[in-house]
Amino acid sequence: MRTINDKTDIKSLTPEELGEAFRELGLASYRAKQVFAWLSRGCGDFAEMTDLPKALREQLAESFHLYAPAVMRRLESAEDGTQKFLWKLHDGNAVETVVMRYHYGNTVCISSQVGCRQGCAFCASAIGGLVRDLTPGEMLDEVLYSEKESGLEISHIVLMGIGEPLDNFDNVMRFLELVNHPRGRNISMRHISLSTCGILERFEDLEKRDLQLTLSVSLHAPDDATRSRLMPANRGRGVDALFSKCQEYFRVTGRRISFEYAMIAGVNDSPEQAELLARRVKPLAAHVNLIPLNHVDERSFEPSDESTIKRFTEILQKNGVNVTVRRKLGSDVNASCGQLRRGAAMEAE
Ligand code: SAH
Repeated sequence: MRTINDKTDIKSLTPEELGEAFRELGLASYRAKQVFAWLSRGCGDFAEMTDLPKALREQLAESFHLYAPAVMRRLESAEDGTQKFLWKLHDGNAVETVVMRYHYGNTVCISSQVGCRQGCAFCASAIGGLVRDLTPGEMLDEVLYSEKESGLEISHIVLMGIGEPLDNFDNVMRFLELVNHPRGRNISMRHISLSTCGILERFEDLEKRDLQLTLSVSLHAPDDATRSRLMPANRGRGVDALFSKCQEYFRVTGRRISFEYAMIAGVNDSPEQAELLARRVKPLAAHVNLIPLNHVDERSFEPSDESTIKRFTEILQKNGVNVTVRRKLGSDVNASCGQLRRGAAMEAE
């Protein structure tokens, strides 16, 4: 069990574990059910659990850590209604969450760590490195509190915010269990995507879980020279190894992988790279998502221009690849990962 300040982190417990913890405290099992229902609605204070006797609320506050994230900053896009939240966590750290409105439902993009140790050359989250992992309860809070603060019902989740989810594997798996639980927020696994820079050593663990989520791989280049330059995670692993792991994942789970590809001017957007990308993804029947790079002030890269993206897209299509160009949502609120947290850190410096 996870403890924070010597108390059990109650929001990170499954209903079964909560029941067990209550039994150990000599409390009736229906009390655990009541409390789990409160937690799943985003309650952040035992005092608010008004259907529990006051003495019990006090006893619980003694035994368990319960905390609600506070909104540090909030931005709303005038263009498309994208909302972005910077949350203050119990220890003063900050992470961000983005709520996007798509035709198929409201989607929340959540962070899995405070900072990131992967160091991708174009990414704002990598600046400053990894501070700490988020707990399952903190990830759940990103969903529940985004919903509460935005007033929008969330139907889809993408783990594409700050952090590398496979570097925080156990907590992320626990978060998925909690958010998917029928007595909890009950969001379908089919509506959840997990994005990774390619921590291949974890792919098998993920296969074994047999989750119905979509695995999304941040590729950004089909050749080792470019990918290793952009993504340190490629060094010592390599694109061939990445694709053979992806092939195995596809074979074992039967689930198609989706590849993210940020278009960076003069770096990964040549016709030759499009041809090579097509050859690599074809056997996987995979989906390729092209994203015009979001400009990050501290980074020297620029997005590819529209005509280059169009040519790149056409080459993929000509080769029978299923490709989409991601609509840029919330660019007026800096909605790409890590930029808000980074901005707040700079103001504080
Ligand atoms: N660590 C995970 C998830 C977080 S990043 C991963 O690497 O997949 C979510 C996505 O945003 C990744 O595809 C990442 O490469 C991409 N990304 C990061 N910085 C970006 C930027 N400046 N412009 C466009 N996409 C970016």
